[in-house]
Amino acid sequence: MEHRVVVYIFSGCIDRNNFNMDKVVIDIDDKIVLNSIEVRPGIFHVKCGNEFDLAMTFLRAQEFYESDNPKIKGQPFSIIEYIRWYARKHSASFTYPKDWDGFNVSSDVIRKALSNVNDWNMYDDAMYNLIVDMPDRFYLIGTMYANSSVFRLLDSRVNDNGVLDHEVAHGFYYLNEDYKRSADEIITSMSKTTRNRIYKDLERMGYAKSVWNDEIQAYMVSGMESITTAKVDTVRKKFKKLFNKALFHGHN
Ligand SMILES: [Zn+2]
Repeated sequence: MEHRVVVYIFSGCIDRNNFNMDKVVIDIDDKIVLNSIEVRPGIFHVKCGNEFDLAMTFLRAQEFYESDNPKIKGQPFSIIEYIRWYARKHSASFTYPKDWDGFNVSSDVIRKALSNVNDWNMYDDAMYNLIVDMPDRFYLIGTMYANSSVFRLLDSRVNDNGVLDHEVAHGFYYLNEDYKRSADEIITSMSKTTRNRIYKDLERMGYAKSVWNDEIQAYMVSGMESITTAKVDTVRKKFKKLFNKALFHGHN
């Protein structure tokens, strides 16, 4: 059946900023090819302007890591069941790719999530191909718009409204023991009232308890509505200082 007039041989992630979508006829079995850039030692960044492909590539590992559903977190789960569950939770629509701006998973999580899959799909292939040549221990970030050069990353004025900073902060927390210890210390030093208020927000947003502290430090770096109050300004400064130190001095 020949019904395609303009066919561009296409592989890779569609970047809707740089691509003329009118001229692309996307085939149903187009391969997803994603590439990453090592933005900091051990921290790899994938930029993908197609939010659906980005979200679906990360979904398996991301939700295995931190879903608030105990049948999904740390468990093998099928993507179709996940989609159904998520849609039921969100007005019968699978808004997942629109709901999340960035993704962040460690090498441990990705390997565990991919090691027990009964419904392997093209997005698992994309993830597998992305990580197959990476070092033993790494941190993987996926965002839609973030610029991918280290130089721009270092200039906070041009980075992606804090999304990339947020994910890199997770990377430091995972890879850099000193960073993690200092961040945990700052969290402990916060007032109980403030900390509990933020925990509550994170719970509402769907984060599992095990990642709350990691999320606090990342949101302190990148910004979050409930965090940006005068009361936590001093704490935020501490987190930003810690983050900038790790950013400029590399890890360790
Ligand atoms: Zn986060």
